[in-house]
Amino acid sequence: MIETIEKHRQDFDSRIRSTSTSEPLKQLRIDFLGKKGCVQALMKDLRQASPEEKRQLGKLINNFKQYVESQLEEKQGELGKSAHKPSQNDTFDTTLPGRRETTGTLHPITQVMEEITTIFMGLGFQVEEGPEIETDYYNFEALNIPKDHPARDMQDTFYVEGGTVLRTHTSPVQIHVMENREPPLRIIAPGKVYRCDSDVSHTPMFHQIEGLMVDKNVSFSHLKGVMSIFLQEVFGKETKVRFRPSFFPFTCPSAEVDIQCVICGGKGCRVCSQTGWLEILGCGMVDPAVLKCVNYDSEEWTGFAFGLGIERISMLKYGINDIRLFFENDLRFLKQF
Ligand SMILES: [Zn+2]
Repeated sequence: MIETIEKHRQDFDSRIRSTSTSEPLKQLRIDFLGKKGCVQALMKDLRQASPEEKRQLGKLINNFKQYVESQLEEKQGELGKSAHKPSQNDTFDTTLPGRRETTGTLHPITQVMEEITTIFMGLGFQVEEGPEIETDYYNFEALNIPKDHPARDMQDTFYVEGGTVLRTHTSPVQIHVMENREPPLRIIAPGKVYRCDSDVSHTPMFHQIEGLMVDKNVSFSHLKGVMSIFLQEVFGKETKVRFRPSFFPFTCPSAEVDIQCVICGGKGCRVCSQTGWLEILGCGMVDPAVLKCVNYDSEEWTGFAFGLGIERISMLKYGINDIRLFFENDLRFLKQF
């Protein structure tokens, strides 16, 4: 029996030496320590031995069992370590750049909207939001556009049930804010607006940012200052800004603001229709009728308002010639920004 144990030990040693992965190691454990393994077989044979032999042989079998266990344990540890060690042909270059997971990009409209919002926040304006479905009152009447006013033609929109409309501009947010807060206030309202238009420069849904400042002694020069700072932040410090008289029902006096053409630098090109100027936003002093509508004393408070289209600014900023590209969800387009 002593010889048998010695034979098993030699067999075990040679097998464990040739093992280089953990799979044969498992088989080795089954063959030697399993229920039908050789250690159990030795224990079975032991029953037939005399009490004297039992003590001696039992000790040997036990020693062998412990030896097998410790050897397996050690080998398992070695294999575990070497699994993480690079082999010579498999060197790891720590200077290689990592592989970045792509999760998409911010839409150019979102980027420009965030940029504009940040500029105005720096000037002390708060961001406000309002509903996209408005009543006729908030979208038109409270902004001094009565039912028979011709300005409604330019803002034909989608009518929802019960006298509600998809808002044609972000200006109704002004009314909501002024109804709920006392002056002084400085707000901007970015968001989606809707009109029945569709061509290379119009989409039925587009984005606007509305701004409003109401305080004591606010004058047209404050408006000019804020608009100039804003446009020079977006288009560059050297950008020339021009104010032209215009008409909006809810401001008086009203102005269109132009910047010197960013394409030709003012020499005249196709984009600026050879004028050297690009129309960029509308603004003006808040009409006293609008202030009266929200119960502000127009003798005490004055203010200015402005509104601009995000798509227009984005198109000029990035040289995009078709507004519909923004909404086609083509990744080749969207990934460029
Ligand atoms: Zn031009």
